[in-house]
This record gives sequence, C-alpha cells and structure tokens, in this order.
Amino acid sequence: MALSYPEQRQAIVDGSNLIMDIGAISMSNHGNFSVKVPDQDAILITAVASLKNVKPDQLAIISFDGKVLEGEISPTSMEIINMHLIIYKKRPGTGAVVHTHAPFITAFACAQKDLDCSYEAMVRAGMTEAIPVAGYGPRGSDESVKNIEKVMNADTPLGAVMLGNHGLLAWGADAASAARANNVVEESAQIATYAAALGGAIAIPAAMRGVTIARRDEFAAAGNVRA
Ligand SMILES: [Zn+2]
Repeated sequence: MALSYPEQRQAIVDGSNLIMDIGAISMSNHGNFSVKVPDQDAILITAVASLKNVKPDQLAIISFDGKVLEGEISPTSMEIINMHLIIYKKRPGTGAVVHTHAPFITAFACAQKDLDCSYEAMVRAGMTEAIPVAGYGPRGSDESVKNIEKVMNADTPLGAVMLGNHGLLAWGADAASAARANNVVEESAQIATYAAALGGAIAIPAAMRGVTIARRDEFAAAGNVRA
C-alpha cells in the first residue's frame, strides 16, 4: 500500500538530514521531527527516537488531541507528542517542529541561561529575541508543556525555546525552516560558548535587529545582480 502524505514524509527525511549533515545533534542522535499534515488537525511525526537515517515509513500520524491515526509509535516518541502539539496550537502558522539535544544549546538549557541575540545569523533567521528556557518538567509532561506555554505567552517572534535541563524545541513554516532554526540556534550557542572564554558575547542592540532584517529583505527583493 502506498504511504500517505509522501511529500510531507520526504520533508521530514530531508529536514532530519539537514540537521545530521552539520552535526547539530547530540552524540546519541536523539531527536524527533514533526510536520503538520494538510487538511486535518494532525501531524506526521518520527516514530523512532533518532534523527539518523529516518525512513519515510518510520513515521506515525497523530491527531491534535494525541490519538494515533496511522502507523505505530515507540513509547519514547509517544511521551513527547504534547510538546510538539503545543507549538502548533500556540503558533497556528507552524508547519514543522523539531526537537534535539544539540549539545551547545543543551548546555545553555542545563545551565538555564537564555541565549542572547549576539550572533547575526540568529537575527537573520528571524530570531530577534533571546531564546528563553522553559522550566524543567519530565519530557512531554503536563508540567513541561505548561512551562513551554509560559515562555511563549510573551508573544515574541520566537523560532525556538529551550527545555530546561533537557534540550531544544525549534519550529518554522516548513520542515526546512524548522531544521534551519535548530541549526542556527546550535551554531549561535556554540559561538556564545567560545565567546564566554573571551569575556562573553555582546548582544546586538535591540534597535539594530530590525534594521538587519530589513536589509536582508531589501537585498533578497532585488534578486541576483548580474554584470
Ligand atoms: Zn529530548
């Protein structure tokens, strides 16, 4: 039987590979990736606990109220469903969510330190506010989900939140954007960690962050420049 939603399945495979290719993942390769399926309140999500060599048939379809509609899912993946779902519910434009324990940002999550906007790539990725840490709760638990909601209630243009003592949750309009959000946050955390040895990274002035985005958009709108 042909698999449902082949395009969305491939988007998860490709998104997972974008993360694996640059190594923005912990050494266990642990992670989970979901995309919104069209025309229903449901997500496709990795049914295994690793982002390495994800296959299109290793995904399950879960409804917004947490029921398995298609496929089967491991207990460790079932535990984390609600932390994916809360992002789709709180940010209706979200097309994909990814969770990893990428090591540099997970170090920030374990130290419970917000990741400030000190690296331009983060601002260019649309993250013009510090990445906050949601307080600790066991993975996917009501307590953990409430803590995620709490940091998202500020209604800032977040593309990611840290899960205290756990890892990162990143999202975007599609799977490639969610993977890039994971990657740019991890790269930013790596650079901030190195900068700490030099006295600490300096935040980009808040007023300049919008200017950076406007300039990016201006050049993008002008398109390629030819001789
Ligand atoms: Zn985790």
